Amino acid sequence: MTYRLVYHTALLSADEYMGRYRDAARFLPLCEACPRYGNCWACPPYEYDPAERIAGYRYIHLLGVQIVVTGSDGGVANVSGRPGPGIPGGVPGGAEVPAWKAFPGAGDDQKGLPAGEWAERVLAAVRSRLDFRLLALERQYPGSRALFAGTCSGCPAGVCPRACGEPCIRPESVRPSLEAYGFDVAGSAAELLHVPLLWPEEGQRPDYLMLVSGFLSDSAVPGFAARFA
Ligand code: SF4
Repeated sequence: MTYRLVYHTALLSADEYMGRYRDAARFLPLCEACPRYGNCWACPPYEYDPAERIAGYRYIHLLGVQIVVTGSDGGVANVSGRPGPGIPGGVPGGAEVPAWKAFPGAGDDQKGLPAGEWAERVLAAVRSRLDFRLLALERQYPGSRALFAGTCSGCPAGVCPRACGEPCIRPESVRPSLEAYGFDVAGSAAELLHVPLLWPEEGQRPDYLMLVSGFLSDSAVPGFAARFA
């Protein structure tokens, strides 16, 4: 399998986005049902009020990184009837990456991975680069705040010391996700980025995966998508 990254962005007033897409009462129960709830410092419940932490910003940039599965080891196209690279509003990023070359230290033994494991590894590889660039952008725009595309995987095997009552080992690089702060990520992806999230069926390879991040700031960032591509 190979994949290609396509970047989709939307720039909104932060107040408008919060008014239309934040509903903590609706989404918190989903977090409460997750084993990470209360066991990861990036996840709810928080020792502070998230609404206060994200208040007062002028803009929010949304960034959707669409991971389009473009082929199999045998070169058979897998994107049928769905938008791919070149989608209006999308910014194609990077070259096609063979799956077995997509992970640090990976070799040919990555070929033939089950679909679920392959997807997890691709998501981790893309998230790592994405989070790094969002944190770099925060430094460039003092006072801004990134919201990551999912929970934290900063500790080995996804085990967070919060489960043992221990503090975060690197709080400076942890950012909660849009969903953890009560935002409707599926609605944002479909209505603002125009790429609906897909939920693959058991054992089925999805046509694409999607990571949605946010960036709160007091000024619009020129060429936002190109900073990640
Ligand atoms: S970096 Fe480690 S300790 Fe901190 S939130 Fe992430 S998993 Fe938990």
